[in-house]
Amino acid sequence: MKAFLNGAIVEKADKMIPLEDRGLTFGDGLFEVLRVKDGHIFFFEDHLSRMRNSAEFFGIPFPYSRDEIKDRARELIALNGINDGELYIELTRGVDQNREHKYPPKDTPPTFFMLAIPLRDIDPMNWKSGAIVFSFPDLRHGLCEHKTINLLPNVLAKNYAYQHGGYEALMYREDLKGKYVTEGGSSNYFFVSGNIVITPEIDNLLPGITRSKVIERLKKNGVQVIERRIYHEELKKVDEVFLVSTVSMVMPVRMIDGKNFKAPGQVTKKAMLLYQKLMEEDKGQH
Ligand code: PLP
Repeated sequence: MKAFLNGAIVEKADKMIPLEDRGLTFGDGLFEVLRVKDGHIFFFEDHLSRMRNSAEFFGIPFPYSRDEIKDRARELIALNGINDGELYIELTRGVDQNREHKYPPKDTPPTFFMLAIPLRDIDPMNWKSGAIVFSFPDLRHGLCEHKTINLLPNVLAKNYAYQHGGYEALMYREDLKGKYVTEGGSSNYFFVSGNIVITPEIDNLLPGITRSKVIERLKKNGVQVIERRIYHEELKKVDEVFLVSTVSMVMPVRMIDGKNFKAPGQVTKKAMLLYQKLMEEDKGQH
């Protein structure tokens, strides 16, 4: 298997990132996961923009143009023979021998690498009859609107869900009114109450690409979508739940902490179809 590292396609097995890379020592970096099918990289511009904007926010130099990245990614996907898979992109603040928290000198080159790998193994029953989810406290920092590689709390949350037989965690924080939903360990959530769809507003959680596509398509198709804080108390009255991400796409949820939901319900089915259609459109564009 090959990888792309700092400008060249390399053999994944023998190329090493220096141990003093700030991605390893400080988690000082960003990542993206893109869906790949039949040579097509879905929503490439959206993912690249999110990464570039965050790189600018954190002052990490962005080393290549969109076209360069796209060309090399396509090359890598072809070389690795990936038909149905994932493109992983990581950007770190580069190698810093001193291991000092402050930023290294301005001319320190960032580390940029890409992996093209087969799609992770997901039980298709999750899409057919719904995923099982467990709630877990959101123990993260205040920078969750950026896709940083500081993922330890997400790892804890998802691992907790897996260990209890679930697919994903439903992370929550608390305010004076009680527990409210933030997002999944690697997904965003939607709740359906009657014909209204509610999804947590972007308030220290990741503005998922899939989330924004689903909101746009639902609205375009006459479904009312409200972005606001949603409390655990309210989940009692919710009819349907679904989670979304690049890899999970639109996935119905059938159980949260032992409570059952209709999966997939009518609105979830609609969201699944609309997103499928959008992916086909995106594929047709390039
Ligand atoms: N929230 C978190 C914390 C994530 O890590 C991810 C994706 O990995 C998402 C949401 C979904 O984002 P996207 O739809 O851009 O894949």
